[in-house]
Amino acid sequence: MYWCAKSKGKDQEKPNLMKICVLGGDGYCGWATALYLSAKGHEVAVVDNFVRRQWDFELGAQSLTPIQPLSDRLRVWQQLTGKSIELFTGDVNDYEFLAGVIEGFEPDAAVHFAEQRSAPYSMIDRKHAVFTQVNNVVGTLNLLFALQELRPDCHLVKLGTMGEYGTPNIDIEEGYIRIEHNGRSDVLPFPKQPGSFYHLSKVHDSHNLMFACKIWKLRATDLNQGVVYGTVTDEVVLDEALINRFDYDDVFGTVLNRFCVQAAAGHPLTVYGKGGQTRGFLDIRDTVRCVEIACLNPAKPGECRVFNQFTEQFSVLELAEMVRTAAWKLGMRVDIEHLPAPRVESEEHYYNAKHSKLIDLGLQPHYLSDSLLDSLMNIAIRYQDRIDTSLFLPQVQWRSPRNERTRPSRVSAARSASEVAY
Ligand code: NAD
Repeated sequence: MYWCAKSKGKDQEKPNLMKICVLGGDGYCGWATALYLSAKGHEVAVVDNFVRRQWDFELGAQSLTPIQPLSDRLRVWQQLTGKSIELFTGDVNDYEFLAGVIEGFEPDAAVHFAEQRSAPYSMIDRKHAVFTQVNNVVGTLNLLFALQELRPDCHLVKLGTMGEYGTPNIDIEEGYIRIEHNGRSDVLPFPKQPGSFYHLSKVHDSHNLMFACKIWKLRATDLNQGVVYGTVTDEVVLDEALINRFDYDDVFGTVLNRFCVQAAAGHPLTVYGKGGQTRGFLDIRDTVRCVEIACLNPAKPGECRVFNQFTEQFSVLELAEMVRTAAWKLGMRVDIEHLPAPRVESEEHYYNAKHSKLIDLGLQPHYLSDSLLDSLMNIAIRYQDRIDTSLFLPQVQWRSPRNERTRPSRVSAARSASEVAY
């Protein structure tokens, strides 16, 4: 019996062991999370169709770090720790496959990372916008139906994004806001102003989650995650074969990772517009812990809970200045270059998002420090020969409905795109 006791808050949290299914477990957040949960003693299964690796082929990009095929990573993990992680290879858009996973593994919690997560990818053209929304919305709908039919008590932990809220000129609450209107008052979902077809897919997911919890009494936690940085966790450092992906390209690269790689390559740090765009950020080590906290403290039946999952706010320009300072300390001189903004977004705005619920449940954040920036840049320096500087500049313009972003892969087409190491 793996089901955990009801939430008791941080001081009384017990080491409950659960069966946790990590959908998207070959990806950046999913891989780190699967290993972390396995190391903690949970019984973990991973679901993935390796489509993320195919998008790299499509874009002519690759992870800075040489990630190994998932089956090899899982074998090394078992050799090092004696812990096995079950692998289900397939598409969450394939309902029969997904239902088979839920029925066969019988999870207590399903952690859903398995979506197309790049805003620029969703803005390339019609095909990529449609793919993103179908992949994400249908996958989540399939999971909701599979849980309702086969495992209704399983807690769904779904990755959303802080980008669902946009940048309103008021404080951002955690999912819901009390509104007074014409003398009446109600607690309603916080208004959403997503900034890309990808972010819109997450808003659609959130609505589907709320509706399914209401009608079927499912239990769900929507983790509105900020931008994740870093690649090192206690588990992936055990062996180079376990290394996590590190994206820095214009489509999938997250901003801090890209700045560190640009610094290591002696390239100016490319800030879009004025750089006043402010967002929530968190360390990958906090991502994995937040997911565990959500699993150990499940939502009640019928409850669709929202946690804002980030630890600090920074503007893009602040991050660039921090990376420039850290680079100088390592003897590297880097400049900051302001480029015309490819996105349609406010370049200077108010931003104050609440993020106390995960802290209340025991999260102890890893804040962005000089030592972390050093370690990020040292990774970039270590894999310098894999840096492709042509991937630094933005090639997808929000204002254009058709961008020429895809290009022939530099990797031989003779090799399978499904699960190769690269
Ligand atoms: P990722 O692209 O590295 O990983 C996603 C994984 O899901 C990949 O391995 C991919 O192959 C798999 N996948 C996608 N569609 C699938 C499908 N239909 N069937 C089976 N597998 C599928 O992304 P990530 O950075 O790890 O992000 C994970 C989740 O967290 C996403 O939902 C994303 O929106 C959310 N998130 C990420 C960040 C971030 O900074 N990385 C920030 C906020 C939210």
